[in-house]
Amino acid sequence: MINEKYLALGTKRSVIRELFEYGKKRKAEIGEDNVFDFSLGNPSIEPPKSLNKSIIDHLLKDNSISLHGYTSAQGDLNTRKTISDSIERRFGFKISPDLIYLTCGAAASLTITLSALCVEGDTVLAFAPYFPEYAVFAATAGAKLKVIRPDKDMNIDFDDLSVSLDSSVKAVIVNSPNNPSGVVYDSATIEKLSLILSEKAKEFGHAIYLISDEPYRELSYGAEVPYIPCYYNDAIVCYSYSKSLSVPGERIGYIAVSPKADNYENVYYAVCGAGRALGYVCAPSLMQKVIADCVYETSDVEKYKENRDVLCNGLKELGYEFAKPDGAFYLFVKSPSGDGDEFSERAKKHELLIVSGKGFGVSGYARIAYCVDKKTIVDSMPAFKALMDEYKGIK
Ligand code: PLP
Repeated sequence: MINEKYLALGTKRSVIRELFEYGKKRKAEIGEDNVFDFSLGNPSIEPPKSLNKSIIDHLLKDNSISLHGYTSAQGDLNTRKTISDSIERRFGFKISPDLIYLTCGAAASLTITLSALCVEGDTVLAFAPYFPEYAVFAATAGAKLKVIRPDKDMNIDFDDLSVSLDSSVKAVIVNSPNNPSGVVYDSATIEKLSLILSEKAKEFGHAIYLISDEPYRELSYGAEVPYIPCYYNDAIVCYSYSKSLSVPGERIGYIAVSPKADNYENVYYAVCGAGRALGYVCAPSLMQKVIADCVYETSDVEKYKENRDVLCNGLKELGYEFAKPDGAFYLFVKSPSGDGDEFSERAKKHELLIVSGKGFGVSGYARIAYCVDKKTIVDSMPAFKALMDEYKGIK
C-alpha cells in the first residue's frame, strides 16, 4: 500500500504542465515556430551577466570542497546578512539575518512556512485568481485552502473576505504582482487588508499570519509594490529569485519572518524545523554565494514590459477583453464565450497554448504567459485574429 494522496499528485499533472507537455509534442509534429506556446511561466530573458560571472568566479576562485559543501540549515550567514541589509536599504525595514532562512525558491518557502504555522484543521486563505499549487502546499501542511473570490478588477473582494474569515484561519497568502492576473495590490488595499486581519486576530485571540508570496516583486512596470511587513506585524515574506534573476532551475529564495510578528522567534524556529522535516537540509550552496553577489541585480525586465505592450495592443485591437497588467509576465484574458476551458481548447486548434483560468479559481478567463520572444507574440496575432473571428462567426 502506498500513499494515495501522493500517487494522485504524481500521476495527474497540473493543467499548466499538461498544456506545456502537449506543446512539446505538438512542436515536434509541426515545428517549433508553428506553435505559440504561452503556457508556462519560464523566464525568457537572460540572467544578468553579473550572475554568470559570479558563478564562474566562485568556481575558479573558491575552495571547491566548501563551495559545494553543506551550509548551515538556515543558510550561509554572509548571504543572510546581505539580504537583511538589502531589505533595510530598499524598504526601510529591519529584519535580522537570524530571521532569514534560505530556501529552494518560493515553492519551498511556502511549503515550509505553511508547515511551520499550521496544524491539522487550520485554514489558509488565498485570493483568486491564485497560483494553483497553493492547494498542494496547504494540504502538505495539513491545512485546508479556502479561496476568496476577486472583485471585477481582480482585486480582493473584501466582503467575501470578511465572511470567510473564521477562527480556523491561521494564515492568508497574498501574491502581488499576481500570477495569473498581473495585478499589483496598491497600498490602500494592503492597509485595508491589514486592518481587517488585525481586528479579526484580536477577536479570535490568535495571530493571523500574512504570507507575502513574492516571486514577481521585481517585475513591476511602474506600480509600487508595497512591502507587507511595513503594513502588518504578523508578516512573513516568501521571496524567490526564480523570475527576477531568470534562474528558476537553480532553486533559490528565502523566508523572512518579521521581528514584529507574534511569537516571531518560535515562528522562525518552526520554519527551521519544517525545513528539516521536509528534508531540505540547506539551499543550494553555490547559489547562496551568487545571491550574495547579485542581491541588487535583476534581469532586463523592461523586455517583459515591451512584450506586455505588444500583446495588449494587439489583442485589444482584435476585441479581446482584459485589464492591462501592472506586473509579473501574465495576461488574464476574458473568454469570449465566458468559459475558460472552452477558450483554451478552442485556442489549441489555432496552435495557441493558453491556460484556462479555472485552475486559478476564476473560470471565465485564460492566462497568457508572455515570457516568450517578442517575435512569438507578433507572429501569434493572425492566430488570435482567426480565433476571435470564429467567436464572432466570421469565417
Ligand atoms: N508562487 C507563484 C505565484 C508562482 O507563480 C510560482 C512559480 O511560478 C511560485 C510561487 C514558485 O516559484 P519558485 O520557482 O520560486 O519555486
